[in-house]
Amino acid sequence: MLAARAAPLHVNGARLNGWLAKFDAIGRTATGINRVAYSEADLAGRTFTLGLFREAGFPPRIDAAGNIFGRLEGTDRALKPILIGSHVDSVTDGGNFDGPVGSFSAIEVARSLREQGVRLRHPLDVVVWSNEEGGTVGSKGAVGLLAPADVDKVARSGKTIRDGIGLVGGNVARLSEAVLEKGDIACYMELHIEQGGLLEKAGLQIGVVEGIVGLRWFEVTVTGFANHAGTTPMDQRKDAMLTAAKFAVAINDAVRSVPGRTVATVGRMTVSPNTTNVIPGQVVLTVDLRDLDASKVEHFTGRFEQLGREIGAATGTTFAFNRTVDSAPAISDRQVMGWVDGAAASLGFTRQRMPSGAGHDAQEVAHVAPMAMIFVPSVGGISHSPREFTKPEDVVHGADVLLNAVLAADRQ
Ligand SMILES: [Zn+2]
Repeated sequence: MLAARAAPLHVNGARLNGWLAKFDAIGRTATGINRVAYSEADLAGRTFTLGLFREAGFPPRIDAAGNIFGRLEGTDRALKPILIGSHVDSVTDGGNFDGPVGSFSAIEVARSLREQGVRLRHPLDVVVWSNEEGGTVGSKGAVGLLAPADVDKVARSGKTIRDGIGLVGGNVARLSEAVLEKGDIACYMELHIEQGGLLEKAGLQIGVVEGIVGLRWFEVTVTGFANHAGTTPMDQRKDAMLTAAKFAVAINDAVRSVPGRTVATVGRMTVSPNTTNVIPGQVVLTVDLRDLDASKVEHFTGRFEQLGREIGAATGTTFAFNRTVDSAPAISDRQVMGWVDGAAASLGFTRQRMPSGAGHDAQEVAHVAPMAMIFVPSVGGISHSPREFTKPEDVVHGADVLLNAVLAADRQ
């Protein structure tokens, strides 16, 4: 058994980056990586990944939700598994790093432990979740949050989620058998690219993720009065577009006036009648609001509604708010974050604690197990793009942190 203060271990970084380089050829098109869940390229990517499990000596199994699991046995049969992993599917026209970095690093961590003769007390389970980009489908399935209505939805590949899960080796009819309950997993850790530019800007090597932000979406309908653009004087208009623009500026100002990391975005406006010579009578706009702190999400919800009332009163228009999506923040576990932080410290990496503004499988696993995530820098803060890139040395740093965080978790 390793002493508590043993020197940090290292993965085989060249091997790990070699896998990533080979994987880049799968689903690569002129416009980027296209390994959309349940597509031919996703199946090819999963076949490649299953091969990595086998080559490492961990015969993979596929659960009812289509997730791939492989196990490094521990010495104490009474202990629950430590779970590590990520996903290998991509968005349309995406990159090669969002998902594979964490998935292949997890396989490499288990393989390095075996090769270096390190026996863990806990079993170490490596997971590659299915269909992450379609809405964390596989991880939702694994924690019992995939509703029967969800599986009839048509995924990006054109197949239903039911058919897609069957295609990758799962079985929707047996989903209940795959469900992990509270207490089934000792902890979960996921390495992922940052997908933003904070680490690069700060010149830091590792992000210790404090949690995944809560997200709230609104559809806001601004109703004015459509009238002739030539004959209606400027002081007699109820212009819904102009009002919507004022509202977009006002919520931006409101968020920026409060210190913190809240973000709010007006991303879409549907204008009616959307004609050159008619004053817009109605605009339907979307607001995307996110923060790690649920009370901030609540605060700004109230603030935005108040701004709607004020701007509506001043412009002769009305605002109606409709909440379309509401997901609570998933907070990292203090102890698991501490293992990640301690591992990064033992390796001498510069780091910071930070929220994840993007969604991840870890947010689903958080429903049943203490979790934490490790971020490595994204060059230029770019992701979900063919220009997505994480430097090979940063990939290795992240995998080394994951390896030593697993060792720390195993000591508990
Ligand atoms: Zn991802």
